[in-house]
Amino acid sequence: MDYQDSVERSAEYLRLALPLMSKQAAALSPVSYAVWYDYVSGRNAALKARIDELTRDGRPLDDDATKELFRRHVVDMDEELAHRVSQGFQKVMADVAKSAAEAGSDAGQFGHALEQWSAGLAQSPDAAAPGLNALLGQTRQMQHSISSLKNRLDESHSEIDRLRQEVVRARQESLADGLTGLTNRRGFDQALTECLARKEDVQHGPSLLITDIDHFKRINDSYGHLFGDKVLRTIAQVVKDSVKGRDTAARYGGEEFAILLPDTPVEGARVLAEQIRTKVERCRIKRNGSEDAIDTITISIGVTAHRAGEPAHDFIARADSALYQAKNQGRNRVNVAHVGMA
Ligand code: GH3
Ligand code: MG
Ligand code: MG
Repeated sequence: MDYQDSVERSAEYLRLALPLMSKQAAALSPVSYAVWYDYVSGRNAALKARIDELTRDGRPLDDDATKELFRRHVVDMDEELAHRVSQGFQKVMADVAKSAAEAGSDAGQFGHALEQWSAGLAQSPDAAAPGLNALLGQTRQMQHSISSLKNRLDESHSEIDRLRQEVVRARQESLADGLTGLTNRRGFDQALTECLARKEDVQHGPSLLITDIDHFKRINDSYGHLFGDKVLRTIAQVVKDSVKGRDTAARYGGEEFAILLPDTPVEGARVLAEQIRTKVERCRIKRNGSEDAIDTITISIGVTAHRAGEPAHDFIARADSALYQAKNQGRNRVNVAHVGMA
C-alpha cells in the first residue's frame, strides 16, 4: 500500500468514500475505509470492478465481503501476485525435474542392459539372440520415456507462457484507472520517474499539463454523481485522443488529469493544452435518457516544462501552481508557468 495523496485530495476521497461506506452493512472500520478509499480514488481497477459486481443487485457489503476485498485487492497486490506466480513456476519446475529423473532412470537401465549384452556377446556369440530381444524392448521403453519427457516439457512451456501473460495482464491492470481506462496515478508516477531518468535534452521537453474540471462539484450536485462520472469519461476520451507516441495521459486524481509530454517543448505543450481546453468546451454531454445537453463544461489547465535536474515533485508543483493561477484568473483557460518562475 502506497498512499501519497495530498491533504486536499485525500479529503476529497474521504468525502466521496463516507456516503458509500455508510450504505454498507459492514462496520465503519479502518479496513472498510481502506477499501472505499481505493474505490473512490480509482487507483485500483480490479477492486472497483469487483465491488461493482458485488453490489450490482443493490445488496450492501457485509464485514466478511469487505475483509475479503481488503485481503485480495488492497493488501499489497504485487506481493500476492508474486507469490502466486512463484508457486506456479515451482510446480512447473518440479514436474520437469520429475520427468527428467524418470527418463534418466530409464536411460540408466538401457545402458546397463547394453553392457550386459555386449559382455554376453564377447563370451559366446550364440547367446546374442535372446539378448537382442531384451535390448529392443529396452530401446522402445527409452523412446517412450523420451517422448513423454518432450510432451511434459511442451506442457511446461505453455504453463510458463500463461503465467507470464498473467503477470503482464495484472501489471497493466494495476496501472489502469477503472473509470476512464487511462493510466492511474501509480502508472503516471512510474512514467514520470522513467522519463526523468533518461538523458535530458532541455530544448525539447519534457513538458507537463495538469487539468482540473471547473466547478465540478456543482455538476455533481446538480446532475448526480453518475452523470459526473460520465463527464469524467468524456473528458478522459478527449485527453486520450489528444496524445500520441511516448506521451502519457493519466487520471491523476478525482477530477484531475495529468499529461506528460517527454519530447515536447513548452510552447507545443501550451498549444496542445489550448486544443484540449477548446475540445472540452465544445463537448455537448447529454444526460442518459435526455436529448438536452447540459451547460458547457470547462476545464482549466496548468502547463510547464521540466527544469534540467529538478526533482519530479518540483516539476509537478510548478504545473499545479500554474493550474491554480488559471483558476484564479477566471477558469476555462490555460496558464503557463515558465521555468525560472516559482
Ligand atoms: P474548481 O473549479 O475550483 O476546481 O471547483 P470544483 O468544484 O471542481 O473543485 P473541488 O476540488 O472543490 O471539487 C472537486 C469535486 O470533484 C469534488 C468531488 O465530488 C468531485 N469528484 C472527484 N472525483 C470524482 C469521481 O470519481 N466522480 C465524480 N462524479 N465526482 C468526483
Ligand atoms: Mg480539483
Ligand atoms: Mg475542479
